[in-house]
Amino acid sequence: MRIRIERRSVRRVWIKVHPNGHVVVVASPRYADKTLERLIERHREWIDRQRTRYRSMERIRLASDELLYRGRIYRFVLRPRLGSTVVRYPRRRIIAGGRNLLAPSFQRQWYMEESRRLVVKRARRLALRYGFHFERIEIRDYTSAWGYCSSDGIITFDWRIAMLPPRVMDYLIVHELLHTKIPTHGRRFWRHLETLYPSYRAAIEWLNSYGRWL
Ligand SMILES: [Zn+2]
Repeated sequence: MRIRIERRSVRRVWIKVHPNGHVVVVASPRYADKTLERLIERHREWIDRQRTRYRSMERIRLASDELLYRGRIYRFVLRPRLGSTVVRYPRRRIIAGGRNLLAPSFQRQWYMEESRRLVVKRARRLALRYGFHFERIEIRDYTSAWGYCSSDGIITFDWRIAMLPPRVMDYLIVHELLHTKIPTHGRRFWRHLETLYPSYRAAIEWLNSYGRWL
C-alpha cells in the first residue's frame, strides 16, 4: 500500500483513499510522521474497506492508446510531422500529436496546458456572468482535491480537470469562484451555489464515482 503525506495548513488531518489504492494523508506540518503513522494504523480497517469498495465500482476504462478529454474517450495517434502541435478530431474521437501523449510526462504536460487554457477562459466568463472577482488561476498537481481558493483570490485546480465533462468542470469553477465571497462550506454556501448551479449534486456524484479514478 502506497501512502503519501501531503503537508498543508489544514486544521484536521485528512485521510483520502484514491481508487488506484494509494492513500494520501493531508496534515499540517505540526504533526510528526510518527503520529500520522499511528493514525493510519488506527484507520486501517476503514482504509481497507474503501479500497475494496473502489475495486467493485463502476469506472471509465481506457485502453492503452486512449485519452480522456472533456469526459470523452479519444484514441491517440502519433504523427511526428505535427511537431509540438496537437489536433483534435471530435467526431472521429481522435487526438493526433507529434509528441507521444501516451508517455506520462508528455501526457501530463499536455493536460496541464489544456486545463489552463480551458479553465482560464471559462472562469473569466463565469466570473463576469455572476459578478465574481479572482486574482489568477493556477494549475497544479493537487490529488487531494479538485480545486482550492485562497483568501487572496488565487484559485488552484488539479491538472486533470481537462479530463472532466464540461458541466462538471463548470461546477468546480463556480464552486471555487463562490469561495471568493464565502470561504467556508456552510448552509449559506450550498444554498447560494444551488442558485448559480442548480444541478450541482449531479456533478458531485460524477466526481465521486468516475472522478476518483482520474
Ligand atoms: Zn469548497
